Amino acid sequence: MLSGQLAAHGMDIVPWGEKADAIVIHTCAVTTNAERNCLRLARSAKRDFPDAKIVLAGCAVQVDRERVRKESGADILLDQTQKFELPNALAKAGLTGRSTSLPSETHQYSTKTRASIKVQDGCEFGCSYCIVPRARGKSVSRDHKEIINEISHQALSGIKEVVLTGANIGTYNDDGINLPSLVKMIENIDGIYRIRISSIEPTTAEEDIVRLMAGSTKLCRYLHLPIQSGDDSILKLMRRRHSISGIAAFIKKAKDAIPTLGIGTDIIVGFPGETDAMFANTMAFLESLPFSNIHAFSYSKRPETDAARMPDQIHPDITRQRVNAINRLKDLKKNDFALSFFGKTVEVLVERVNKKGIGTGWTSEYIEASVKSAERKSIISFVPSSIADGCISMP
Ligand code: SF4
Repeated sequence: MLSGQLAAHGMDIVPWGEKADAIVIHTCAVTTNAERNCLRLARSAKRDFPDAKIVLAGCAVQVDRERVRKESGADILLDQTQKFELPNALAKAGLTGRSTSLPSETHQYSTKTRASIKVQDGCEFGCSYCIVPRARGKSVSRDHKEIINEISHQALSGIKEVVLTGANIGTYNDDGINLPSLVKMIENIDGIYRIRISSIEPTTAEEDIVRLMAGSTKLCRYLHLPIQSGDDSILKLMRRRHSISGIAAFIKKAKDAIPTLGIGTDIIVGFPGETDAMFANTMAFLESLPFSNIHAFSYSKRPETDAARMPDQIHPDITRQRVNAINRLKDLKKNDFALSFFGKTVEVLVERVNKKGIGTGWTSEYIEASVKSAERKSIISFVPSSIADGCISMP
């Protein structure tokens, strides 16, 4: 959205690392690492391009403006409420576009196959470890007409797949249009072949979404549920709204409705107070359910969250060992899921093609696939017969 705004103001967007008059970094404060990387990028941009204006926008600025200014050396800081004023902020710094009548970025041909579309931001759920409510404020849903417009332009520019994103996307509601209704509207856009939902909070709209997926030809059959722990006492400390038995029952129902459904999850490892027994519960929970993808994250202590003040913070070495154990399980489960497609027809949307003509992309169920004699952006059906590291291939 920010680059689209700049293009609409007659500014050229160049790839990262090329010389520019302004370098904009859209920050993320959700984890310590994400924030640290944004500040590091700002410092290296300042070093490599001393004449450029360095702009930091988004939630890291919202959380601690002065510290971020000091540690990044940025020239312009725009918090969550100011970031859409970026063209004005650049104009005040003496940077304007060539003309306001130039076509926006979305009207130009895109070399990409898929585009992320932010439909919602902010959250009021108040999980004890999370900085999003403070960094991004209350849940705000984008105007559905604006979203449809943006995706229609993306389709005209050659985008085939859109990924709908948001901090808590299941709470999307624009004037009575909820997430399933929005997805139905996007399904009607010509040229969009696939719609993917990035991650959806359990207890929001996930049941309706599964019903929609079961009858849709465009909505990808993949559900990413950030469950965060497989132990009820840790879920309670995290102030999550779901229980382990509730999740297990939901996954069973979802798999009954769509047997080939891919199910991913995020797990926070090393939450304060997580004992060996509690972690063993998480492992047993992950083993017992048909997850096709598991992202294990080390717990990240964020300032002024309730979890940061909790006793029994876990030593990083223990957290690392636990993350490694989950990653080993993840590889096995990912392979098992991919193998379950042997003998069945899958469709891959080709995103990249190498010099030998081998294309790679993803199936609807979010399995990586490689195919022969492929063209980028083509859709190829095949029956997989070999697999390497979870990536299925054409016979
Ligand atoms: S639901 Fe997600 S975004 Fe909202 S507070 Fe909890 S972890 Fe943060």
